[in-house]
Amino acid sequence: MPAADGSGEFDLIAWIRGQAAAHPRIARGIGDDCAILSWERPSELLVTTDMLLEGRHFLLDEHGPEAVGYKALGVNLSDIAAMAGSPLAAFVSVALPRQAARAVAEGLMRGMAPLAARFGVALAGGDTNVWDGPLTINVVLIGECAPGGSILRSGAKPGDRIYVTGPLGGSLAHGRHVRPEPRIVEAQALAGSCRPSAMIDLSDGLSSDLRHILEESGGLGAVLRREAIPIHPDASSVEQALHDGEDFELCFTLPPDRAAQLPDSVRTFLVGEVVAGPGLWLEDRRGGRAVVERGGFDHFAR
Ligand code: ADP
Ligand code: MG
Repeated sequence: MPAADGSGEFDLIAWIRGQAAAHPRIARGIGDDCAILSWERPSELLVTTDMLLEGRHFLLDEHGPEAVGYKALGVNLSDIAAMAGSPLAAFVSVALPRQAARAVAEGLMRGMAPLAARFGVALAGGDTNVWDGPLTINVVLIGECAPGGSILRSGAKPGDRIYVTGPLGGSLAHGRHVRPEPRIVEAQALAGSCRPSAMIDLSDGLSSDLRHILEESGGLGAVLRREAIPIHPDASSVEQALHDGEDFELCFTLPPDRAAQLPDSVRTFLVGEVVAGPGLWLEDRRGGRAVVERGGFDHFAR
């Protein structure tokens, strides 16, 4: 039941609807039982979803609802970037804490709106709940795959070079994790020029996410060069750069003969090489190798 004073669920949805921009691919957005997306072009769709929990992925009192809204959309955009796709439509489901439900909802929207506008994302639906628990927000993001097909995790080959698009580490300790910079434009530039053989976004840490590429590519391994790992100014060791996570840079692999086609517009750091057979090593300047332990973020591990 909507509250008579205009502070109820339906009034909030009407307000959200008023914020949502029209989009040529969204025949019907907020306001019916389902959204209707119109798809005249023959193209694959990308669908990704990520949920953020108060106390787990953010602290509402510390970060505020705008940062939470930004992060919720940003991490999903980062997944679309990892496939070199173009984002199209977002569906946002929230469980709002009763005390400040409307203010939190408006803050989430204010945080999301500039990112949505920047990357051409239409807010096409969602679900609104209020409860006595902490804030939870889930975003489903739909995108279109890159011309020439999506870049998968599974295409790496022995001999491919391994790159990352930015310095790593210290994101959580320094609060950068709530301001991810989705590498949509960079991923599309890479896909359109050198075309990476495999790609992933760095959410859990290079030591963990690179392993996904290696495993999905048929049980390969990698040697990372210690002095080549770009350490973020927020971090103080290679270990932090490898394990901290939530950098939301891209990690991709590239056959050496395509390195000359790397686009000038994308900042890249060559960090190592894919090898045959499983394993992940860190090699020092003198050629000594140390096994890289699994150190990235794992929800079941903590
Ligand atoms: P139903 O009860 O049929 O599921 P709702 O009342 O939950 O419908 O939602 C009505 C419309 O508002 C739908 O189009 C839904 O997608 C949209 N909507 C609800 N909550 C949100 C939200 N937080 N953000 C965006 N759209 C929302
Ligand atoms: Mg319905």
